[in-house]
Amino acid sequence: MSTVLPRKYSNLGFDPDALREKYREERDKRLRPDANEQYVEVEGKFAHVVDDPYVEPGFSREPLEDDVDVVIIGGGFGGLLAAARFREAGIEDIRIIEAGGDFGGTWYWNRYPGAQCDIESYCYLPLLEELDYMPREKYSYAPEIFEHSQRIAKAYDLYEAACFQTKVTELRWVEDSARWIVSTDRDDALKARFVVMATGPLNRPKLPAIPGIEDFEGHTFHTSRWDYEYTGGDHNGNLTKLGDKVVAIIGTGATTIQAAPYVGAHAKHLYVFQRTPSSVDIRGNKPTDPEWAKSLKPGWQRARRENFNDMVIGRPVEEDLVNDGWTDIFRTLANMMPQDKDEQISMEEAAALAELADFKKMNGIRARVNKFVADSKTAEALKPWYRQFCKRPTFNDEYLATFDRGNVTLVDTSQSQGVERIVDNTVIANGISYEVDCIIFATGFEVGTSYTRRSGYEIHGQNGLKLSDYWADGLRTLHGFSSHGFPNCFQVGFSQNAFSVNLTAVLDDQAQHVAYIVNEVMSRDARYVHPTSEAEAEWVGTIRRLAVSNTAFFEACTPGYYNNEGDVAAGRGIGGESYAPGLNVFNKLLAKWREEGELEGLEFG
Ligand code: NDP
Repeated sequence: MSTVLPRKYSNLGFDPDALREKYREERDKRLRPDANEQYVEVEGKFAHVVDDPYVEPGFSREPLEDDVDVVIIGGGFGGLLAAARFREAGIEDIRIIEAGGDFGGTWYWNRYPGAQCDIESYCYLPLLEELDYMPREKYSYAPEIFEHSQRIAKAYDLYEAACFQTKVTELRWVEDSARWIVSTDRDDALKARFVVMATGPLNRPKLPAIPGIEDFEGHTFHTSRWDYEYTGGDHNGNLTKLGDKVVAIIGTGATTIQAAPYVGAHAKHLYVFQRTPSSVDIRGNKPTDPEWAKSLKPGWQRARRENFNDMVIGRPVEEDLVNDGWTDIFRTLANMMPQDKDEQISMEEAAALAELADFKKMNGIRARVNKFVADSKTAEALKPWYRQFCKRPTFNDEYLATFDRGNVTLVDTSQSQGVERIVDNTVIANGISYEVDCIIFATGFEVGTSYTRRSGYEIHGQNGLKLSDYWADGLRTLHGFSSHGFPNCFQVGFSQNAFSVNLTAVLDDQAQHVAYIVNEVMSRDARYVHPTSEAEAEWVGTIRRLAVSNTAFFEACTPGYYNNEGDVAAGRGIGGESYAPGLNVFNKLLAKWREEGELEGLEFG
C-alpha cells in the first residue's frame, strides 16, 4: 500500500506491493539485451514477405519526370488527409506516391480475417462530417475502413494524382532550382516544390530473428500480407483450406487477438506461440443508432475526438462521450479523485491513485480470462501482468474462448523469451518440437528503428546532408513537422508532436497545419522555408523536458514497442518523443502559432 494514500485505501482486497513485485518479475523475465535487434529486417532473403498479394503481377508504366507543387509519400490516412487539406487550401498540383495498389495504407495491407479498428469509428474514420458518412457500427471492420479511404480519394479527386505500386527510393534537394528530386523504383525522377512524408508509424512488417527461420520447410506469411490463396476464405473467415493444416501463429498482439478465432475455427490444429499475453477486454460492438446519428450537431466529430483525447490522458471532462475500454480506467480514476473541487492532492497522491485504478482495471482483465478458459494452466498463462498502457490494450469477445477448443493449444514461451528455434517443419519452444504446415508471423512492425529505414529511402537535404545522419542522435524538428536543412519537406505522424491512440485525429490536425504553411510559402512567393536551428533546438528541449514524467512508467513496463523493447534509455518507443500535454493542448499551441501569422521559428530561403 502506498504511503502517500489516505487510510480509506488500506482495504482494497488486493495487495499493491505484491502486484508491483509480480509485474517486476514478469518484466525481468522478458527483458532481452538485444531489444530491437531481436528482429530481422524484411529485405534480402526475406524481401518476399512484403510482396503485395492484392495486385496482379506484371504492372509497368513509363517513368515520370513531372514538375509538381507537392509530392505526398504514402496513400494511407496521413497522405489522404494531407491531400484533402491541400485541395481545400486550393493547392491542386499534387502527386501521391503509394507502394500499394490503392489508397488505404494500413487498411490496404492488413486484410487478415476479423481485422477491425479498436478505436471507436465515430472518432477514428476521418472527414465523416465533410463526406456526410456515418459508420455502420461503433467499431468498424477493415473492409469498411478501406472503403472509406477510397471514399475520401474519390471525393477529393485524388485517384488522378496517384502513382500506385511505386516506392520512393530517394529524396534529393537541389538548391538552385529549390526542388526536391523524388526518385522511385519505377525510375521516376519527379520534381517537387514541397514534399510531405506520410509513411505511417507501423508500415514496415518485422520478423523475429529466430534461429532457423529462413530454413522452415512449410508455408509462411506475415499477417499484414494475409495469404488467402493458402487459407481460403476472406475477411469474414471461411478459411476452409486450413481444414487439413496444422498452423502456428507466432505473436499475440492486437492482430492475433482478432485473427486467431478465425484460424482456430478452421485449422486442423492451431498452436498459438505466446511470449507476452495481451490484455483482452470486452469488445461490445453495436450497430450505429440512426436516431442518435440524426441528433448530432455540426462539429460533433471534432468535439467527440477532443473529448476522447482528453479522457485517454486523464484530463478531466464533463462527460465521457466514447465510454469504452480505452476510457474505462480514467472513469475509475475520476471516481477515486476528491470530489470536492477545493480539495487539492499532490502529484505523488495522483500518481498513486492512477496506479490503484490500473491495478483494479488489470485485476478485472485477469479475472475475465477465467470466465472463458476452463483449463487453469492455459488461463494463468493468458493473464497479463503489467499496467494497462504498457502495451496496446485489446478488445475482443471471441479470442479467449478460442483456447477452449480441442484443436487450439496455447504455447507459453515466456520462460525461453520466445520461440527458441525453427528446424525443418517444426517450431521449437520450451524444448518441445511442434510439427506444423504453416507459420503465420503476427510479429508486428518496426518502431524503434531509424526513420529512413522504416520509410525505405534516404533524404538528402541542403549540402547533401542526410536525414539519417542529422537524426542519428535523436529526432530534431520544429513541432515534429520539419528539420533545419531540409527545406519544404514535412512529415506527418508521430515525431515530436502529440501522440494519440486515435492516429487519424493526430494526422488530420497535422495535415491542416502543413497545408497552412505550404499555402503561406506559396502566397508569399517564397522559394522555401525550414526551421531555424534555434527554434528546432528549443522545441526538442521542450519535448524532452515534458517527457521526463513518462520515463519511470515505461521503464517499469514489460518490453514491447511502446517502450523500445525495454531499452527506454535508447529511445522511448512509439510515443516517447511526443508532446506530453497531449493532442488538444498541442493543437491549441499550433492554432495560436497560425493566428499570429509570423511563421515563428521558420526561416525563408
Ligand atoms: P505487435 O507488435 O503488437 O505484436 C507482436 C507479437 O509478436 C507480440 O506478441 C510479441 O511478443 C510477439 N513476438 C515477437 N517475437 C517473438 C518471438 N521470438 N517469439 C514469440 N513471440 C514473439 O504486433 P500486432 O501486429 O499484433 O499489432 C501491431 C499494432 O498494430 C498494434 O499494437 C496496434 O497498434 C495496431 N493494430 C491495431 C488494431 C486495431 O484494432 N486498431 C488491430 C491490429 C493491430 P512480446 O509482446 O513478448 O514482444
